[in-house]
Amino acid sequence: MSYSLEMALRLFSPKGALHEPISGNFNALSRDDFIGALQIAAKSNEQGLQYLMADHLVDPQSIVALLTFFESELGSEEAAGMALAILLRRPLPEQLDRLVSSHPYFDKERRRASVVMERAKRAHRAGNDHEYRRLLAERNGILSAARDRCAAEILQTGRCPQCKGTGRRLRLGDECPKCHGTGRVVPDAELVSRRFGMAMSEAMERLVDEVIHQASDLVRIMDRQVREMQVG
Ligand SMILES: [Zn+2]
Repeated sequence: MSYSLEMALRLFSPKGALHEPISGNFNALSRDDFIGALQIAAKSNEQGLQYLMADHLVDPQSIVALLTFFESELGSEEAAGMALAILLRRPLPEQLDRLVSSHPYFDKERRRASVVMERAKRAHRAGNDHEYRRLLAERNGILSAARDRCAAEILQTGRCPQCKGTGRRLRLGDECPKCHGTGRVVPDAELVSRRFGMAMSEAMERLVDEVIHQASDLVRIMDRQVREMQVG
């Protein structure tokens, strides 16, 4: 990442609000200088900026803005979610469901939930409706909490849950069949064409490329701005 962009992102970062003084090659450029340079660079690269913020800072507003952009371009909320996942190199929603169920923690919680379910069934047979409903709610709570926790972990780390990111199977030591030895979960772009057809898949690919292209334009323009400010 370019230094000037890093400075700009730190301006927006909740923790990083430039507590450290700006130093290095950048003689006495102020916070406003960086914001000014970023604004100029972002003018014709709005989605590029959103992408950088979403990618580096996991900024919720930028994520919503990108979803809105993709939805208006592709005309489908579901396709927009897929485009965002591909852009951010995250598993697609459909993949995520499968990944969560192969997560060892989810597996453990699923077993705990089924024990609670057995107790619920017994209460039901005994005619204890209140207890049945209480246990049913407990079991659903266990499953949804486990699902949320595993999904959040997979999305944050991008790590294959099966091999914990090692790319190797724990006991056998050979290549992990889930991630083919990469240790990562990557978006499966083929799911898009299977679900929506080739035309949508290509449109999505073009849009994602455009956003990535915008981000690199933004970085280039911002670097130039910062250099000019230093000279001037
Ligand atoms: Zn793996």
